[in-house]
Amino acid sequence: MKLVLLGPPGAGKGTQAHRLETCYGFRQLSTGDMLRAAVASGSELGMKVRSIMERGDLVPDRIMIDMIADRTEQSDCAGGFVLDGFPRTVPQAEALDGMLGARGMALDRVIELEVDDGALIARISGRFTCANCGTGYHDTHKPARKAGVCDVCGGTEFVRRKDDNAETVAARLRAYHKQTAPLLPYYRDRGILSTVDGMASIDAVSREIDRILGKVESGA
Ligand code: AMP
Repeated sequence: MKLVLLGPPGAGKGTQAHRLETCYGFRQLSTGDMLRAAVASGSELGMKVRSIMERGDLVPDRIMIDMIADRTEQSDCAGGFVLDGFPRTVPQAEALDGMLGARGMALDRVIELEVDDGALIARISGRFTCANCGTGYHDTHKPARKAGVCDVCGGTEFVRRKDDNAETVAARLRAYHKQTAPLLPYYRDRGILSTVDGMASIDAVSREIDRILGKVESGA
């Protein structure tokens, strides 16, 4: 299955994509994670995108399209993938359709996680991730069962994103409304958009996504 998760920063895309990888074996392709890895490695790409990401702006389409074209061709994506953070502009969506079409494939479903802007700032400012396995946590909504120890892998190192601060989040939200929200009518017109209430609990959102995938699989 080839899926896209759409939604503003903090909507829960990463959490749900991570779960879809664990439960269904669809490879999670997070362009934000790929870019952060490039920045951390100090590569040429990393140096190019670092200040863009720190401002909360979008990285140029060409860079993102080439990255996803390469990544989706790798063998670990053969069992399906879930795109988390891509596409973010209409040209990216068109390029994705083009690259899949050239391989005789198409997206199966685009799932929008709908969340109020007001809730996003609070969600984002409390979040952190296990540095070892990538499991996501939140200071108030989803703390680790034992403080300082990852529930899943027992890791004791956690990371907080540099762009999860109030000023950058505001810029990221503006970018979402201006450049990414036009993807909703784009996919609605193609009949492959489903919308989930992203304000519900993580488990409730997961159940709703499972229900949507069940319908896609059965062709309903
Ligand atoms: P994310 O982890 O998805 O919130 O992405 C973090 C940052 O990476 C964004 O604020 C953008 O600067 C950049 N980024 C990630 N994915 C894309 C994309 N598809 N197009 C442009 N910029 C992106």
